[in-house]
Amino acid sequence: MFPRLALIGIGLIGSSIALAARRAGIVEHVAISTRSEKTLRRAEELKLGDSYHLSAGDAARGADCVILCTPVGSVGALTAEISAVLKPGAIISDVGSVKSAIVAAMKPHIPPGVFFVPAHPVAGTEYSGPDAGFAELFENRWCILTPPEGTDPAAVEKLSRFWSALGSNVEKMTPEHHDRVLAITSHVPHLIAYNIVGTAADMENITQSEVMKFSAGGFRDFTRIAASDPTMWRDVFLNNREAVLEMLQRFNEDLTALQRAIRWGDGDKLFELFTRTRAIRRGIVAAGQETAAPDFGRPHQHDAPPKK
Ligand code: NAP
Repeated sequence: MFPRLALIGIGLIGSSIALAARRAGIVEHVAISTRSEKTLRRAEELKLGDSYHLSAGDAARGADCVILCTPVGSVGALTAEISAVLKPGAIISDVGSVKSAIVAAMKPHIPPGVFFVPAHPVAGTEYSGPDAGFAELFENRWCILTPPEGTDPAAVEKLSRFWSALGSNVEKMTPEHHDRVLAITSHVPHLIAYNIVGTAADMENITQSEVMKFSAGGFRDFTRIAASDPTMWRDVFLNNREAVLEMLQRFNEDLTALQRAIRWGDGDKLFELFTRTRAIRRGIVAAGQETAAPDFGRPHQHDAPPKK
């Protein structure tokens, strides 16, 4: 599909793309670039690509598709850095978790004859770096494309086929709509997790060891999300400010209503909400986006041993 694929940034997402594209047999040469010698050498040890470059321009030169896999705040400067070497007819894309700010940062640097198709694979883990990647990361997960108005439909179609070959389901929407949907499904949940873990850590009359010891009561499930990469998430909140603040406003109003229900002993209100939210969870399982196994599928002592 792409004789030369360039990946700028080779952390969790970049390395997973490298492995999945190789497995799908849709690329001939994968050129990898990252800013630090250490990460570049690690990518080479893991044999993630075919050539390794400290300069983003050297990786992008002559590539049929260039995908920026770095934090949201860095893509504008990187696009400016490589724009002069982009091949006419090439596709340039990204994987950022925010889209309007990325379009604003990248678009001014896209030279004529190069197709810009922003993308966001809605798949991830709380781990970072080239060792964290795996070829199955995108399987049965959604990848959202947000092509700016007027983008060549053939380029959009080609990138869509690329993500399908990596195992993703592909959907298209405007960058603004993407940012509102992801604010409520991803960004606000991360903020809530960071906040509750921070609040527990700052408690004066409950010790840290008690917080950890009794975490199976619910707290530990927030800590998985709150362990996500600090740089990536700082950039997400700085670059999706409006949509996040709007969703937080709604969240705070609903939280105040729950607070009132608890204060006034309104059990019906609590029961009605908890019943509706259970149905949402079942819907996510039915959509194949989560396992129905109890406790998120964690193995327990009474479970049968895994099949060899
Ligand atoms: P990661 O594992 O932390 O890897 C980040 C990569 O970007 C590394 O190669 C790093 O280089 C490079 N980098 C970091 N800061 C940079 C900067 N200021 N300028 C240039 N390069 C820089 O990150 P990731 O999880 O793959 O995330 C990458 C992108 O994917 C982000 O935009 C994020 O929003 C998006 N995304 C993440 C997830 C997720 O769950 N993690 C899911 C979907 C989309 P060095 O190691 O050489 O410093």
